[in-house]
Amino acid sequence: EKAALQKFVGQKSQTADGHVVELVANIGGPDEAEGVLERDGEGVGLFRSEFLFMESDAIPSEEAQFEAYKKVAETLDGKPVIIRTLDIGGDKALPYLGLPTEENPFLGFRAVRFCLQRKEDIYKPQLRALLRASAFGKVRIMVPLVTCVDELRAVKAIIEELKQELDAEGIAYDKDIQVGVMMETAAASLIADILAKEADFFSIGTNDLTGYTMAADRGNPDVAYLYSAYNPAVLRSIRNIISAANKEDIMAGMCGEAASDPLLVPVLLGFGLNEFSVSATAILATRKVMSLWTMDECKALVDEVMQLETEAEVKALLEERARS
Ligand code: PEP
Ligand code: MG
Repeated sequence: EKAALQKFVGQKSQTADGHVVELVANIGGPDEAEGVLERDGEGVGLFRSEFLFMESDAIPSEEAQFEAYKKVAETLDGKPVIIRTLDIGGDKALPYLGLPTEENPFLGFRAVRFCLQRKEDIYKPQLRALLRASAFGKVRIMVPLVTCVDELRAVKAIIEELKQELDAEGIAYDKDIQVGVMMETAAASLIADILAKEADFFSIGTNDLTGYTMAADRGNPDVAYLYSAYNPAVLRSIRNIISAANKEDIMAGMCGEAASDPLLVPVLLGFGLNEFSVSATAILATRKVMSLWTMDECKALVDEVMQLETEAEVKALLEERARS
């Protein structure tokens, strides 16, 4: 099986009829960047920057962050690198911040909400480090847990301010750096048309999108049966996000686990997803699945799937149609 996948090394990521998409990888730290190239990834679709913060016992300095982001940018050597700004809170705690415990941490003070309240000591140093690193490769900035366009505008305003600062200091950065939105809340999905006008790209975080759409916590075994991307509600949400991105001609990506689910890959292709970010170990297997379908077949599968009414029916149909 592993040997059979080797023939996909160096190949384009494309359907049987030559529809090409981007196949990139998720990483948790700069040390994983090399592995993406070894496994023939076409870039990084999600660098979870919170790992830098969690490995440390204080907020990492702008300089330390710059070095980490620069290392990934240089390693990827011109291939795209999407770095997500600090996504803390919810399931990810940072003891040294001394944040109060919350009754509903998943509905609380986390990710971009937290960063926008901590502009001076947390967000600006991180965004400056990202801008500086963008001089060394194709760095893109991604904002997690967006629920309204105000948040995206606020982040973009800070970035503009920092660009002027860097200009005044004569420090290099990519003036056309892209700023995208992680689509992982029901709210973001419902206003995907609005966000698509101001974001440079979308990346769908199905891990959270599934939980927030189904109002189901994966960690709770009593409701785990609801936590599935095969639910018609989740599929409609994903379709809506991709359509909005396609309509505005911005990249429609996905960095949640669903992007490498072999049952879902043809559905996602049929929806019009054009970037798949998966764990490095899943790159070749995902490329293989893509090669087994034509776009017409993917679209026909979408038509069938979207008529189904239950998670179980969707799963059964996708299993029946699965190719290997
Ligand atoms: C997601 O929510 O799908 C995602 C990729 O981010 P994380 O798993 O880090 O929340
Ligand atoms: Mg998430």
